[in-house]
Parts: sequence; structure tokens; C-alpha cells
Amino acid sequence: MEAILLTSQLYPWLFYLFVFVVSLMVGSFLNVVIHRLPIMMENSWKQEYASYFSETDSDAKDSDTASSKKNAVLDASTQISPETFNLAKPDSTCPSCGHKIRAWENIPIVSYLFLRGKCSNCKTPISIRYPLVELFTALTCTFAAYYFGPKPQAIWAVIFTYILIALIFIDLDKMLLPDQLTLPLLWLGLILSTQSIFVGPVDAIIGAAAGYLSLWSVFWLFKIVTGKEGMGYGDFKILAALGAFTGWQGLPIIILLSSIVGAIAGIAIMLFQNKGKSLAIPFGPYLAVAGWITLFYKDTIITHYIKWVLQ
Ligand SMILES: [Zn+2]
Repeated sequence: MEAILLTSQLYPWLFYLFVFVVSLMVGSFLNVVIHRLPIMMENSWKQEYASYFSETDSDAKDSDTASSKKNAVLDASTQISPETFNLAKPDSTCPSCGHKIRAWENIPIVSYLFLRGKCSNCKTPISIRYPLVELFTALTCTFAAYYFGPKPQAIWAVIFTYILIALIFIDLDKMLLPDQLTLPLLWLGLILSTQSIFVGPVDAIIGAAAGYLSLWSVFWLFKIVTGKEGMGYGDFKILAALGAFTGWQGLPIIILLSSIVGAIAGIAIMLFQNKGKSLAIPFGPYLAVAGWITLFYKDTIITHYIKWVLQ
């Protein structure tokens, strides 16, 4: 990393180009994470569920049939995922014909354009979302690199962006913010604060705790009053992580920005889709976008706000 930063200080454009190209490739990997992580989680839940109920089953019934039933359940639990399924295995295939995607077909954006958005074997259209996620990752990360310049902050802001992009799309798809992403992001934010990369440790620790507890309190208040659950624990964890990166000073901005963006998006969805139908909208993507903007513009927003108040 030292060598990269040293070269980058001499040739800043090389650094931005480097971030752009690497982020295209990481964006391609994020497509895999977005697709596979929820499936991996479902598989492990099924296994836990099966093994948990096989144990309670044998406790409840102590007869001859109990043991055979237990075996049957255990068999079922091992059958759920007979093949290895993780981020690396199996190789990517075309979902409609099973054609194995070769290396040259897997080059970010270039392959999509070259294949004209179709599987090389069966000509089934490939979702435009794959190249868009790659391009989105590359553009947001190049912005992050440009904003901070060739400094350690840029590298960490890029990693921050990667994790948030995975979270945004998984939440949009599955209404889920995996602990496997929110918690490492939280720990990373706290560790970086020890070096005062974005904020100091006191601001980060208070930011993480206040981020979690603020939404946690709203959740319980809402639940006690209305009996409904408006958010999930993933939302508390992502705001804790964002608080660790922006410090507690960032939290009011994140809440405000995400509410504004969420309200606009919510109204737009209601207008363009089935009218009046109550639908669940994930809150995570708005928090993530707001948190990302806040990492860069926290001080600008606070300064403008104070000026505006004092006028
Ligand atoms: Zn195909």
C-alpha cells in the first residue's frame, strides 16, 4: 500500500485510473456477493433449523419411533446443500442453459458489450444490472479516491463504498442486511478511529453506540405503540457502522438525508406502482446512501447549516 500511495502522489491520475479499474473488478465480485450471500445464509439457517428441531424432537418423544424420526430429520438436514456453495464455488454459469462462464466472458462491462448483453451459448439476455453495478462501483470509488486524493483515507473510503454497495443491493433484493457485512464494517470503523483516519475514537465509539440505540429506541417505541415492526436489527447495525465512520456528529445528517431520500423514493414508488397498497420498503439503502454522502460532506453540511441558522 505504501508503494501504491508513493507512486500515486507523483502521478495522481494513475491512482484514479488504478482505483477505477480495480473497482470495476471488485464490482464484478460484488455481483457474486449480492447474489450468493443471501443463498448461503438461507442454507445455513435451514441447516440450523433442521439440527435444532431434530434435537428437540428426540427430547420430546422417548420411544422407538423417536430415534428413527431423528435420523430422518438429520438426513434431511445434510441433504439441503449436498454440494459446496460459497462465494468461490461453484463457477458462475448461465442461469437458463447452465453454460459455464469463461474468463473472457467475465471481464467487467467489456464482456457485456462484446456479448451484446446475451449468453454466448443460448442467447438469453443477461441482466443489465450486472454491468451497472460494476460501473456504479467504479464511479463511486473513483469519486472517493479523487475526494481524498492519494492518501490512506482514499483506500478506506473505497473499501467502505464496496461494503455499502453490497449491502444496498442485498437489502433491495431480500430485505436483509447480513451481519457478515454490517458487523465487519462496524469493527473496521472503530479500528480506523484509533488512527483518526476519518474521526477520532471518542466520536466513533459514541457514533456507533448512538447509531444503534437511536433506531433501536424508535423500533421499540413504534412496536409498543402500533404493534408493528417498522425496521429490522440490520438497520440498527448499519447505522452503528456508519456512526463509527462519520462520528456521532454525522448521525443527525444521516437520519435527515435518509428520511428525505426515503420519503421521495417512497412517494415515487407509490405513484408508479399499485396505488394505496402498503408495501415494505427497505430502509437500509437510504441509510447507506446517506451515510456515504455524510462521510464526504459532513463538515460542509454542518457549516452550511450553522450559517443558515445564524442568519
Ligand atoms: Zn445460456
